[in-house]
Amino acid sequence: MMTATSANPPIPFIASAGYANSSHWIAALQLAMPHERIIAFSELSQQQKQQCRLAIVANPDPAELRSLPQLLWLHSVWAGVERLLTDVGSSNLKIVRLVDPQLAATMAEAVLAWVLYLHRDMPAYARQQRQNQWQPREYVAPQHKTVSLLGLGALGEAAAQRLLAAGFKVCGWSRNQKNLENIDCYAGIAELPQMLAKTDILVCLLPLTTDTTNLINADMLAALPKGAALINFARGAVIDDAALLAALDSQKLSHAVLDVFRQEPLAAEHAYWQHPQVTVLPHISAPTDMSTASAIVAANILEYRNSGQLPPIVDAMRGY
Ligand code: NAP
Repeated sequence: MMTATSANPPIPFIASAGYANSSHWIAALQLAMPHERIIAFSELSQQQKQQCRLAIVANPDPAELRSLPQLLWLHSVWAGVERLLTDVGSSNLKIVRLVDPQLAATMAEAVLAWVLYLHRDMPAYARQQRQNQWQPREYVAPQHKTVSLLGLGALGEAAAQRLLAAGFKVCGWSRNQKNLENIDCYAGIAELPQMLAKTDILVCLLPLTTDTTNLINADMLAALPKGAALINFARGAVIDDAALLAALDSQKLSHAVLDVFRQEPLAAEHAYWQHPQVTVLPHISAPTDMSTASAIVAANILEYRNSGQLPPIVDAMRGY
């Protein structure tokens, strides 16, 4: 059995070249784990590289991972792992992702904020103001509006609870059937159209996998009621962009709030920027809190040192 002592080899923090926050992460992680030594990959000696069993990562360079022959597992400081899964490829490296209640609370707050933005017709009132138009719109109370979540995981469930507390009717969709109080739960692709048919505002909080890439396509958008709205806080590639633009142009969809894109930053010439029914956000819905995230990484590593047990790992076959 291992214990958390300074006899353990240092744990490297490995990020992409040029990542600006590495030193801040190393400081926050070191503070959370005084019994470990957290260092930048570049500071590892040849001998330490031979001994490394675990690394903490933020979009690491795959070549740096390959230079650690004993590496067993990676703790990512991000919740999404699609890029990491591609980068580690068919190696047997185990991946632990960040599951942080603070991140879920921040995301739930963002979901509530932008659902209210759509619910209270703010895009329409902003348009009317630009045209000097004094025109009250019909008010529909939240108990008569259905907000549906694609994904009922760590983030989706927290968002669902926040929406329920705000008075909305809430539906949720996942791979496996869930039973959550006061949430109308649907599972699997066969049940998706049923949920979409009753949705006023659709919120995407799905991981990006082979199954979810382009999931929000023309067929799926056609299954929504006319005038529904979409919020994507997950990953850009879940949406077929051409299908979304067509649904907005035909007024099938009233508005889309997009925080994530296939290419980030969004290219200057992209149609989303100037589209009157699109709100573009620069990937800000749920920033990671370095201090709470570091405390969670520290607790997982301490458990590993004390018991040899890894925290729950990402299922590479499933993709999340
Ligand atoms: P999670 O706990 O793994 O939950 C994922 C949910 O999606 C689960 O409910 C899962 O179903 C469902 N799901 C996955 N594949 C599905 C499929 N093919 N069909 C139906 N449901 C499916 O993930 P999370 O922590 O909530 O995070 C979700 C995503 O949010 C991350 O992967 C990341 O990309 C994104 N994110 C974005 C930001 C941002 O700032 N924009 C910040 C953090 C995270 P089961 O429950 O049945 O497994």
